Amino acid sequence: MQTKKSENFSEWFFELLKKADVVDQRYPVKGFLVHKPIAAFAERQIYKLFEEELEKKGHKLMRFPALIPESVFAKEIEHIQGFTPEVFWVEKAGTDELPERMGLRPTSEAAMYWMYSQWIRSWRDLPFKVYQECQVWRYETKHTRPLLRDREFYWIEAHDVFATREEAEKQVLEDMDTTEKVLHEQLGLPFLFFKRPAWDKFKGSEYTFAADCVMPNGVVIQQPSTHFLGQHFSKAYDIKFTDEEGNEKHVWQTCYGPAVSRILASLIMMHGDDKGLVFPWSIAPYQVVIVPVLKKEADTEAIMNKCKELEEKLKAMKVRVVLDDSEKRPGAKYYYWELKGVCLRFEVGAKEAAEGFVTVARRDTGEKERIKDEELKEYLERVPGEILKNLREKADKNFENVLHEASSLEELKEKLEKGGFVRVPFCSVELDGEECGGVVSKETGGKVRGKLHGADEKPAEGEGCIVCGKPAKEYVYVAKEY
Ligand SMILES: [Zn+2]
Repeated sequence: MQTKKSENFSEWFFELLKKADVVDQRYPVKGFLVHKPIAAFAERQIYKLFEEELEKKGHKLMRFPALIPESVFAKEIEHIQGFTPEVFWVEKAGTDELPERMGLRPTSEAAMYWMYSQWIRSWRDLPFKVYQECQVWRYETKHTRPLLRDREFYWIEAHDVFATREEAEKQVLEDMDTTEKVLHEQLGLPFLFFKRPAWDKFKGSEYTFAADCVMPNGVVIQQPSTHFLGQHFSKAYDIKFTDEEGNEKHVWQTCYGPAVSRILASLIMMHGDDKGLVFPWSIAPYQVVIVPVLKKEADTEAIMNKCKELEEKLKAMKVRVVLDDSEKRPGAKYYYWELKGVCLRFEVGAKEAAEGFVTVARRDTGEKERIKDEELKEYLERVPGEILKNLREKADKNFENVLHEASSLEELKEKLEKGGFVRVPFCSVELDGEECGGVVSKETGGKVRGKLHGADEKPAEGEGCIVCGKPAKEYVYVAKEY
């Protein structure tokens, strides 16, 4: 890599996507990205981690159509008003004008809830928990960035239905737990949940919680968000059930949306280094590369035999292994596979072949050690967990001093330069605070992320809003975001 991660973080990231051949941006529709094998593979693994967690928690997989008739979309007013500027519309089919234009789903509430109203009848049908994995399309007007903000992206959306408000609000907490289990525990990405201000909530919801990750340059990336929809959509789409006493009621709903391509971007940013990509074992497209180190002609056969035996052995253990027997020099192979983020490199030379061991280099730590052939199985059972733990601990350390405080706009601006979140007294996270939120963005380049979930904070008594000076009702956190 030409650009150093510590010197120009954004440059480093975009150079890495290109050099390691993760994505290709040359497709002739702006903001539409080609996901090359590394990206597509890693994303599929991320999907699997979420599937497992969602299904464990009672969700069923379904698939819904991508086209949504405008009349169906328009049932929830706030929702369609919020999304209309971002919708791609289909108005023609072949040479025929369509009687009604159709939106390409920017999200699937309308498509799914229209169907939910056909299915849900009785308390026995509840809770009803469904997810789908799909592409969505949003005509982003902000500057697009590969994997971070594309006009077509890959995600999961879970849409749950309950008989009571309490159950639905519990689901929001369950979604947060799913985020913790996958993002932090399995992918090594720490985050904080914020309750978004009223002007920044999901359109059509009562409230939104969103997870914010902090990248090594201090800039924040929004990750999965979970929304309490209340009865807004059930009233608009007429989703009703009959309770045990025979009363007809509208259901309570939630939705949750982890964006898989954006999670991949955060992973690359967080764990990657100046040599290239670094992946946790579970999602790595390449887990082991075997590199023969050939010096004397006389040793070649023994070395190659050992390499092939190792390859077979690892395949039998379901390890994603490549034997690099190309003509390149070993040094060039090391460089190439480090760039691609292979977790382990097995070097096999004359000594290894003769003495029954393998020299193993770990991508995440750079450490090398000798592993005896008979200990390889045990090593491969142990090391994936160690790699994940190491990556997670490094990321957690990076996350340690991300909370700062400020009591004026100037101080906020100054603190934002350090990166992370800055806590400030603020007039209101309800709609009447929107104007002050706008001033914060304009004056400091930061954005109000909302109230920190789980923080045991006293109300901001006696303090004034850092913008308007009116008595502050709460503390909010501000950060710069991608
Ligand atoms: Zn204010």
